[in-house]
Amino acid sequence: MKIGVLALQGDYQKHLEMLKSLGADAVLVRTADEVRELDGLIIPGGESTTIGKLMRRFGIDEAIIEKVGQGMAVYGTCAGMILMAKDIEDSDQHRLGLLDITIRRNAFGRQIDSFETDIQVDELGPDPIRAVFIRAPFITEVRNGVRSLASIDGRAILIQRGKLLASAFHPELTDDTRLHKYFLDIVKS
Ligand code: GLN
Repeated sequence: MKIGVLALQGDYQKHLEMLKSLGADAVLVRTADEVRELDGLIIPGGESTTIGKLMRRFGIDEAIIEKVGQGMAVYGTCAGMILMAKDIEDSDQHRLGLLDITIRRNAFGRQIDSFETDIQVDELGPDPIRAVFIRAPFITEVRNGVRSLASIDGRAILIQRGKLLASAFHPELTDDTRLHKYFLDIVKS
C-alpha cells in the first residue's frame, strides 16, 4: 500500500512525517508517473491556485482523475479540499472536480486568518479533535452522496464520499494522528 503526498507547493512535509509515524509506505510525489504508482494520495494545504496550475502543467491532474477512477483514495486538506471541489465560488481556477460540493475560499474572514477549535468527529471516537484553520475555506453546499463528518455553525468542514476525504483544517499541524489513520483505513478498504 503506497501513499503519496503531492509536493508541488504547500505544507506537504508535515503530512509525510505523520504518515511515516503511522508506519505507512509514504513518499513525496511530483510527477504524473509517480501518482500512477499510488494507492492513496494526500493533497496538502497551500495556495490552491498555484497547486492547480502546477498540476495542470505536469499532467498530474489527469493522472489523479484517472487513478481515482481505478479506486485510488484521496485526502485533501484546505487548499487540497478546494482543488477536489467541483464548484468554487467566484473563481475559475483550475481544479480536479472530484467532489460535488461548492466551496467558498478564505471563508472565515480576513480578520481571523487562522484559528483553532475542538471539533467532534464520531468516526474518530469520543475525544474531540483539535482543528487548525489557516485562511480556510468552508463548504457552502454538499450534494450527491457527499457526507459531512463534522461542521462548524452548520458548515461542513470534514467530508467524505467513498474513498475521497477532505477537510478545511490541518490535522498534520497537531500531534493527533487519528484522521490520517482514518484515511489509511479508507485506502485499505
Ligand atoms: N487560502 C488558501 C487557498 O485558497 C488555502 C489555505 C490553506 O491551504 N491553508 O488556496
